[in-house]
Amino acid sequence: MSNITVCVRFRPLSLKEKRVHGDSVCIMCSDAESFVFKDEKEEDLPFCFDRVFYQDSAQADVYEFLALPIVQDTVKGLNGTIITYGQTGAGKTYSMEGLGILDCDENKKGLLPRVVDGIFECIKSSPEHSNCTVKLSMVEIYMEKVRDLFDLSKDNIQIKENKSQGIMLSGTTEMSILNPAEALKFLFRGISNRAVGETQMNVSSSRSHCVYMFSIQQESALDKRVKSGKLILVDLAGSEKVEKTGAEGRVLEEAKNINKSLSSLGNVINALTNGRGNHIPYRDSKLTRILQDSLGGNSRTALLCCCSPSSSNASESLSTLRFGTRTKLIKTPPRTNTRDANEGKDFLLQVTDNQTEGNSFE
Ligand code: ADP
Ligand code: MG
Repeated sequence: MSNITVCVRFRPLSLKEKRVHGDSVCIMCSDAESFVFKDEKEEDLPFCFDRVFYQDSAQADVYEFLALPIVQDTVKGLNGTIITYGQTGAGKTYSMEGLGILDCDENKKGLLPRVVDGIFECIKSSPEHSNCTVKLSMVEIYMEKVRDLFDLSKDNIQIKENKSQGIMLSGTTEMSILNPAEALKFLFRGISNRAVGETQMNVSSSRSHCVYMFSIQQESALDKRVKSGKLILVDLAGSEKVEKTGAEGRVLEEAKNINKSLSSLGNVINALTNGRGNHIPYRDSKLTRILQDSLGGNSRTALLCCCSPSSSNASESLSTLRFGTRTKLIKTPPRTNTRDANEGKDFLLQVTDNQTEGNSFE
């Protein structure tokens, strides 16, 4: 069984799609896991995923199916990743943040504020809750550079690998969080900084990938062992084909780089689905390097493929659905607990379907 859950979410038709284009909806719901998609040639294509969220789906349902199990695992010391994918305007940020991080209508709250509540609720019921620290870092990947969203002067963060913690962003600002309200304040700050940086550089957020990283450490009062879980959420840049014809200078560079990160993601997924023993090109882009643990390694991952239901966006939606279908084919190799013989003390416990223990080191 795969550690990757792939879901699809269709947003409602936008006013523009309804009024200006007079578009029709190009999907027919079959059930909670499958639907029929009418492509541009009016052909019916059946699709099946772990769960399909249709136009009237509630934010809470998306959270409960896709994120809650991962949050629970992260607090047990496992790694988890939640990724939103799709063309610009498909609902990635709506799903991730909701309609604003602060003061948002309860029903409109996205995954992030719910994840924050979930982390603290799970911690409360954990036996080690009194010795727990939660930290948050936020970075943005734009033009293959990683920028710290809590300190915009750190605009070329390096990605490193460490035996006990896996992939890490070296030197990023980490905010210690004591409660959900504080987490929301920091998330709001990071998101606002992202907008400031974008204005300075004249970049649209649809062109960059935003990475939210929570790390949760709990020390057992009994034996002092530390459980350490990492939860990464990624709001990807728009997956639409960027028009290169006529583009020059930075716009052309930008187009190539966005394609680079997302096409590297596609290449990594293809390599992972082609069986074991292949070279997996994680190092081809910053995005795939950050997601290295998530896609092939010690992590549970959920991919939310966001789509417009409109016939005028059928070709981009189809490409998103095909990306999701390929991702579903990733088979993570059988996992065993491994112990680092050189260091003796470090353990990297890997995920198995029934495993409840996580990364821990003394
Ligand atoms: P993306 O981040 O993929 O570019 P957004 O999340 O910004 O797209 O969504 C585009 C627009 O559609 C926004 O106005 C957003 O509020 C709206 N929207 C997206 N998904 C939904 C949804 N499931 N229900 C209601 N409105 C949505
Ligand atoms: Mg967005």
